[in-house]
Amino acid sequence: MASDQRPSTVGDQRDPSNAEPETALETARRQLSRAGSNLEIDDAIHERLRHPTAVHEVTVPLERDDGSVEVFTGYRAQHDSVRGPYKGGLRYHPAVTRDECVGLAMWMTWKCAVMDLPFGGAKGGIVVDPKSLSDDEKERLTRRFTQEMRRVIGPTRDIPAPDMGTDPQTMAWLMDAYSMQEDETIPGVVTGKPPAIGGSEGRERAPGRSVAIVTRETCAYYEYPLSETTVAIQGFGSVGANAARLLEEWGATVVAVSDVNGAVYDPEGLDVGAIPSHDEEPEAVTRYAEETDVARLSNADLLELDVDVLVPAAVGNVLTEDNADAVDADIVVEGANGPTTFAADAILEERGIEVIPDILANAGGVTVSYFEWLQDINRRRWSLEQVHEELESEMVTAWNAVREEVEQRDVTWRDGAYVVALSRIAEAHEIRGLWP
Ligand code: GLU
Repeated sequence: MASDQRPSTVGDQRDPSNAEPETALETARRQLSRAGSNLEIDDAIHERLRHPTAVHEVTVPLERDDGSVEVFTGYRAQHDSVRGPYKGGLRYHPAVTRDECVGLAMWMTWKCAVMDLPFGGAKGGIVVDPKSLSDDEKERLTRRFTQEMRRVIGPTRDIPAPDMGTDPQTMAWLMDAYSMQEDETIPGVVTGKPPAIGGSEGRERAPGRSVAIVTRETCAYYEYPLSETTVAIQGFGSVGANAARLLEEWGATVVAVSDVNGAVYDPEGLDVGAIPSHDEEPEAVTRYAEETDVARLSNADLLELDVDVLVPAAVGNVLTEDNADAVDADIVVEGANGPTTFAADAILEERGIEVIPDILANAGGVTVSYFEWLQDINRRRWSLEQVHEELESEMVTAWNAVREEVEQRDVTWRDGAYVVALSRIAEAHEIRGLWP
């Protein structure tokens, strides 16, 4: 069957009259279909990869601090495990849906394969606004969710990690709840834990570090000396803030950063070290504008700044068909998962703007998660220097593998990354075969 005749269980062609925003699952499936046409993948494997292996849905009762009980919905989507245990984050966010978890789980499968990590892809979450929970409530919710998911996670089965709305402390509660039920301490059930209980040095800053490394390599490739490169970064959480600080350290000029309240902008360059990251002080970016004389912008304006590199590192779906025409950067490096819709990607490609995809750019997070998991199962600790060295080498190797495909096939960076990932996954599926 030719790739354009593949059965489509979810419409791949967008109905222009349908103004609903593109979901993560739609974007992920369209990207997969497009990548399939760049690569000779067996149709049966392609069809298999369009669907998750399993999606676990649970209800999680929580006793609130006032004694009342509220019930939340939680998911864990397990997409593919042909190359190893499922791996991926756990997000606490009011917009979490089943389909979003499936789309994000698909991206985790590709991300682990681009990096050649022995993991598959998963993503989970609870439909809850974490800002509405006290610390005690968050702990109870996490422990009960872990109990509900106990049979489907595990160090050789499915290994959660932090994502939007969760942090090392959340992972510590998860690890403790799981270990208590199993009657033994099992640090490898989760990554992104605090180092005191088996977490890795350098894990929290790793996604931002990989964004910076990939930006540095891409700028060198297109002959933009970092000392003459301007960067705008949307989002000042662990990805955006760490990327901004490293890029500044390496000589780039970071002209704009933002959080949910808006952006600060100085064409001469911001002092990013003086702006508190979300982890240091939530939502404090625009306060910096009050204390200095830098300009304030909206998040929408930041995306349209005339800069060399734009890093969307906040939420998904921010570059859409409505604003892709107005993007004025030469290079987009995706710090968030799924910041560019399929339609926006086509517009950016047409306009000659290079987009370095999320599954490569922010893959430092899951790569150091892999280092953490190795440390846990080997009961051996790595130094921060070792983590940085190994991450640097893994990122440059993956970036080069993608660059080779970009050059040889004359495709976009996203297509190049999909070719690297899908050829590894398809080969593993072919060799393992389909069990009747
Ligand atoms: N949530 C992160 C991501 O989207 C990390 C996943 C992990 O470390 O397993 O890549």
